[in-house]
Amino acid sequence: MILTLWRQRRRRRLRARPFPKKWLTLIQRHVVFFHRLSGSDRAELLCHIQVFLAEKRFEGCGGFVITDEVRVAIAAQACLLLLHRTTDYYPRLLTILVYPLTYMAEEKRQIGEHLWEEGTVSRLGETGRRMGSLVLSWGAVKHGAADPSDGKNVVLHEFAHQLDFENDAADGVPGLATREQQLSWAEVMKSEYASLRAADASGIPTLLDTYGATNPIEFFAVSVEAFFEQPRALRAHHPKLYAELRRYFQQDPVEFSAEENG
Ligand SMILES: [Zn+2]
Repeated sequence: MILTLWRQRRRRRLRARPFPKKWLTLIQRHVVFFHRLSGSDRAELLCHIQVFLAEKRFEGCGGFVITDEVRVAIAAQACLLLLHRTTDYYPRLLTILVYPLTYMAEEKRQIGEHLWEEGTVSRLGETGRRMGSLVLSWGAVKHGAADPSDGKNVVLHEFAHQLDFENDAADGVPGLATREQQLSWAEVMKSEYASLRAADASGIPTLLDTYGATNPIEFFAVSVEAFFEQPRALRAHHPKLYAELRRYFQQDPVEFSAEENG
């Protein structure tokens, strides 16, 4: 309780600090969606970035050097997911590890009931419920900041996983306010996930990345990418999914979308 009060006071002070000019220039130059937000959303985003950058540690990997550009580009995209809601700033996350491009990871994948495939795969990002860290490729982060409507954004994807972990389970369900919301979320996600799996199995083209057919955890992260990057298309083709995400995020990204009308 005392710690919470102390933390809240500290965060209030951080949010009230004048935003460094140099950081603002970097955001204006590299983070395209920033220009499309309303004035009050921009102000709220900058406040969150101050707290985020004061609380999270960044580490360069594979010879990569962390600069202010790297820190603010990641923070700005991660904090978009926090607007309009009471937030604890990704409480499970302490450190963000950044590689220059893709990085290699050992992976063991089940491909049949008793069959596992092991190997080295290249990745753009990852995080886990017990990791306390989140890994990103700078190449992918930069691309995500520069193109806000191609449906792909590694920062939004990995931080969506962190939101999923906030209620102590990795299950594709973030902390929802009411029982009614949980029930309607479960119903919508179940049928949307099933139709993505069916489309994936039969090779039908989909708006959502079929990586979301892997499991409900990835389905949530992929849906978040589409919600912020291709909201018009998501609203048109998956209105119930769009409505659940809008209710959870308390945002309507159609209002600031860079997407072509579609
Ligand atoms: Zn994922």
